[in-house]
Amino acid sequence: MKKIKSFTFTIFLILFSVNFFSCTKSANQENTLSFYAMNTFMTIRSFGKNSKEANLKVQERIFQIEDELSVTKESSDLWKLNHSNGEPTIVSSETSLLLHFAVDLAKKTQGAFNPCLYPITSAWGFTNENYRVPPQTEIQNLLRYVDYNKIEFSKNSNQENQISLQKNMMIDFGAIGKGFACDESIKILKENGIESAVLDLGGNVQVLGSKKNSKNQNVAWRIGIKNPDQSSQLSAVAGLNLKDKAVVTSGGYERFFVGSDGKKYIHIFDSKTGKPVENEILSVTIISDSSLWADSLSTTLFVLGKDKAIDFWKNFSSQTLQSDFETSYPQIQDFDFVILTDDNSIFYTQGIKDKIFFLADFENKTLVTH
Ligand code: AMP
Ligand code: MG
Repeated sequence: MKKIKSFTFTIFLILFSVNFFSCTKSANQENTLSFYAMNTFMTIRSFGKNSKEANLKVQERIFQIEDELSVTKESSDLWKLNHSNGEPTIVSSETSLLLHFAVDLAKKTQGAFNPCLYPITSAWGFTNENYRVPPQTEIQNLLRYVDYNKIEFSKNSNQENQISLQKNMMIDFGAIGKGFACDESIKILKENGIESAVLDLGGNVQVLGSKKNSKNQNVAWRIGIKNPDQSSQLSAVAGLNLKDKAVVTSGGYERFFVGSDGKKYIHIFDSKTGKPVENEILSVTIISDSSLWADSLSTTLFVLGKDKAIDFWKNFSSQTLQSDFETSYPQIQDFDFVILTDDNSIFYTQGIKDKIFFLADFENKTLVTH
């Protein structure tokens, strides 16, 4: 009898531990999905028992966003808008919302951020990689079509969203599309019960929750800040320990060409001159709760240059960029930055003081405070 009891107990223990083990395993179950979308390589790594299905739902959503916002797919809202020849164009509420967001930011940054630079970036060859330095007269002519104040939002008689551009105007969401996709992905992961994940949508990184270390403790994710010198052995110059944050970098090293004059021309443009930005900045990394904001502000601060970027951050409050529109995109409360400049200096803000670690030897490390 005793033997039978102890046998039953042993079986119970085995079953219990198998069951317990499989629960723990499924809670930590890791799934990684990589694919190409929005002109870049994307990786979604999530943990939890639903992670495989959740990753696939994220992928589906990203393909849908690409179909809507691509400038090259002929059925996309942006393609239709860019070929509307000045006529009102019906777009999805999402496209309308994003363009509202972009125009809002353009107005609030006096055009440092400008979603209407497509005619200019095309002339320089950044849209098809036939790089060239256009003559000044051509640039001057194209600058007539970058005025974001000329975009009109309306509703047709069926209450559908309409947008009208002036003839020859063209929009692109190159500076915010991946950020938007990242925020949407995080939403989907959360809806599917995922509490821990890391997304890398072509350099737009976002972490959800924390990660488990080898002792099964919850610890922050470590995110590297790329070395702008791509020929260096050192791939990251600094890193950040973060939970629940978006990290987006705009870097001149990402896309550029060298002209016959020997000058380097980058893919981030100054909408006042119609030329690639030339300043001391090598890269701007923004850390915030929302990737849409981080993406848009990384481009904006790059254009502003180091001193104005620091002022922008110092003067920033959640009211600064409060939208004028009734919108559902996230309002920004706060953000931090890491700026690398061409004299081997690094500038970083106080909110990440305890989260940043340095991997390279910098000439100057400056903590920016209020
Ligand atoms: P990012 O790499 O996020 O900084 O975005 C750069 C992309 O945004 C470029 O490839 C262009 O498509 C577009 N872009 C370039 N200059 C600007 C600007 N000043 N404002 C908004 N978008 C821009
Ligand atoms: Mg950006």
